[in-house]
Amino acid sequence: MHQPIFSLEVFPPKRDAAVGTIYDTLDGLEELEPDFISVTYGTGRQSDRTATARICRTIRQGYGISAVAHLTAQYSDEGVVREALDMFEQAGVSAVLLLRGDCVQGRKPAGVFTHACDLIAYVRRTKPNLRISAACYPETHPEAVSPAEDIRHLKEKVDAGADHLISQLFYDNEDFMRFLDRAREAGVCVPIEAGIMPITKAAQVRRMSSTCGFRIPPAAERLLDKWGGDTEALQEAGIAYASQQISDLVAQGADGIHLYSMNQPVVTRRIWRNVRALFAKVPCDQLELGKS
Ligand code: FAD
Repeated sequence: MHQPIFSLEVFPPKRDAAVGTIYDTLDGLEELEPDFISVTYGTGRQSDRTATARICRTIRQGYGISAVAHLTAQYSDEGVVREALDMFEQAGVSAVLLLRGDCVQGRKPAGVFTHACDLIAYVRRTKPNLRISAACYPETHPEAVSPAEDIRHLKEKVDAGADHLISQLFYDNEDFMRFLDRAREAGVCVPIEAGIMPITKAAQVRRMSSTCGFRIPPAAERLLDKWGGDTEALQEAGIAYASQQISDLVAQGADGIHLYSMNQPVVTRRIWRNVRALFAKVPCDQLELGKS
């Protein structure tokens, strides 16, 4: 049986948060020994590029974990992209997650890299040794003309040079498995990691559901209804829900799990401890003998 990938996502501290909070996050995630940690990228300003590169360097040098730097397309011209790639290179980054980026109201796109595939083709041409990941959407990207068109554009990203895909979060594994079938049928053959975000805050999940275009299935809706008013109970239920999602996906042969840590090491660690045997790098019988 193939070994599923296990990876995490963190984001640079918000502008009003102490820079040091990222070290607390990484300290709390270190024991998980993920295959890589990816670091998000803001709206493409200089400070975003620096923050992403700096955190990637810390992940690599301070924790000995592979880092994947996110980089967005639509507000960047060629000079900005080159500068970001150079910064990532100096930070020892050998893999990037290339995205179009979220739209910022009132901000004019640079008009060079309109879609993620434009950036992917550019990076594949100019930095042939970089590993390239891209995003995919089990429930279809909210701006897509149709699910079929979205898959067609996904195939374009892979044809342009993406070696690996990470999915948008979802709360119904059947949505992911159906998407996987459609992607494979369309000739998308690279590994596809399932994106999992634990439910910890009711308002956040509901807000993201409308902006990111994923649905809240009845089982998750029941959880929100029942525990939405009790932060601690919701967190416990969210940890159990995410752990169940991961176990089921791995049992169904998923290529990997990408856990959106939301910079919450305690929740992430709790989930990891529930599912760690599924990603064991040594045989399970040795784990049972307490050798892990
Ligand atoms: P694209 O692949 O360009 O697709 C966007 C839309 O355009 C889709 O509807 C697609 O069907 C359509 N499309 C694609 N190609 C074409 C084409 N050639 N012609 C016509 N239509 C086309 N955002 C950030 O700002 N920073 C981050 O760090 C970040 N990290 C993310 C990580 C993951 C794993 C995911 C899933 C998303 C992340 N995002 C991030 C959000 C992402 O930027 C948004 O979801 C964005 O709206 C789409 O990005 P994309 O790369 O999928 O875009």
